[in-house]
Amino acid sequence: MHNKLLKQVYSPSEFNAHGHALIDQLTNHLECKLFNRSKKAIAWNTPNEELQFWKDFLVHGDKNNLFEQITQHTTHIHHPNYMGHQVTPPAPITALSGLISSLLNNGTAVYEMGMASNAIERIITEKLCNKLGFGPQSAGFLTSGGTLANLTALLSARKAIASTDIWNKGMANQLGVMVSEEAHYCIDRAERIMGLGEQGIIKIPVTANFAMDTNLLSTRFDEAKANGIEVFAIIGSAPSTATGIFDNLKKIASFAKEKKIWFHVDGAHGGAGIFSEKYKFTVEGIEHADSVVIDGHKMMMMPALTTALLFKDEVNAKTTFSQKADYLLSDSEHEDWYNSGKRTFECTKNMMAIHWFTLMKYYGEDVFDAYVTELYDKGKLFAGLIDQEPNFEVAVPPMSNIICFRYCSSSLNVTQENAINAKIRQSLLEDGEFYIVQTTLSGKLYMRITVMNPFTDINHFKQLIQKIKSYL
Ligand SMILES: *Cc1c(COP(=O)(O)O)cnc(C)c1O
Repeated sequence: MHNKLLKQVYSPSEFNAHGHALIDQLTNHLECKLFNRSKKAIAWNTPNEELQFWKDFLVHGDKNNLFEQITQHTTHIHHPNYMGHQVTPPAPITALSGLISSLLNNGTAVYEMGMASNAIERIITEKLCNKLGFGPQSAGFLTSGGTLANLTALLSARKAIASTDIWNKGMANQLGVMVSEEAHYCIDRAERIMGLGEQGIIKIPVTANFAMDTNLLSTRFDEAKANGIEVFAIIGSAPSTATGIFDNLKKIASFAKEKKIWFHVDGAHGGAGIFSEKYKFTVEGIEHADSVVIDGHKMMMMPALTTALLFKDEVNAKTTFSQKADYLLSDSEHEDWYNSGKRTFECTKNMMAIHWFTLMKYYGEDVFDAYVTELYDKGKLFAGLIDQEPNFEVAVPPMSNIICFRYCSSSLNVTQENAINAKIRQSLLEDGEFYIVQTTLSGKLYMRITVMNPFTDINHFKQLIQKIKSYL
């Protein structure tokens, strides 16, 4: 009985039949969504309705409808009216490299369990280091998401800079990290995981334009020092998630150099700007970073999760999780770049390198320039349309494809305005034709879009604004 069941599970012909049917179904999905033949970017359900649907489906649903139902019950990232969170509509070819990764399941941690993916990862990370402007000592690896990559970078920084051997001996003194108050919440989380506590998270206020106020760095550093805090790193956001505004990486770099602390760039979203001829100025100064994070699943058209963590000096990539100091590593330990698991937080990880390689091989590196440039251009376009609307304002002129905007009126106070903006956003969600999100900045509630789909154009923007006005 069991044998029979397992034979069925592994039946190549069943795989083939389901596979062809699925590709047909997903092709249809892509055609409908990309070219706007279907009206909705999201078929909104309340959490409880959704839970009940899947409970019922497990018992009564037809398995031949399973993949179709999963597809319908998702947020349709390939729809041009999807302008929500910063997840990319993956290039369809990378869904195929995802299929290979899933079926072959090479764990990549040791060379023997991922020969191709380890070698390819080396090529990809070398290319990225070059593009960043790092020198020959640089190297990196891929890991599962920006959150984990930021934590890993801070662990590397601590190992490289802190005056005591925390990895082996535990915390001895109060450490601290400087970061913009607008940084992604995962930085705060990483610092708490590392035992820095609230007092070790030195939040630097932002300017009126939502960038880290670099004029405050010296004072805040001195204050921390006077309070017995050993600051070992400073983080620049490129850009910060809520506003899409880039910190001044050049200024932060020279501050880090002066204080001899680690300079980390969280480029989860905008690190991909290194590929854009037109917009690489946004990350000027990134070449001075000790470590940089870039998400493949945000601005590089790849399926989640795949994140590059790149180091100016390979030694730091190698020693983060090692009990020994760098000078105690044997020559063979120094050399074995091909055992990825020694450097990453994960043990098993999927064959994420193949997405990068597949895109480069099929379409060339220019595809990354094309994508970033197109979307940043569209960000400006949308902001321009909002500027023309009498009762709407943007929080700040965009530097990327993220735009925060809101309805405002001289006859209303901020609380009333916030309520209206929240209501508009909720109405949009329940309607489902568009998908956008919201954020609060300095007490004001903004609607927020991130243009992630190159097929989103001025007409979609105009229809969105029209729809928003219809709720007023
Ligand atoms: C998205 C994002 C992260 C988190 O990355 P994940 O891949 O979602 O874990 C971190 N920092 C910034 C600036 C981001 O935009």
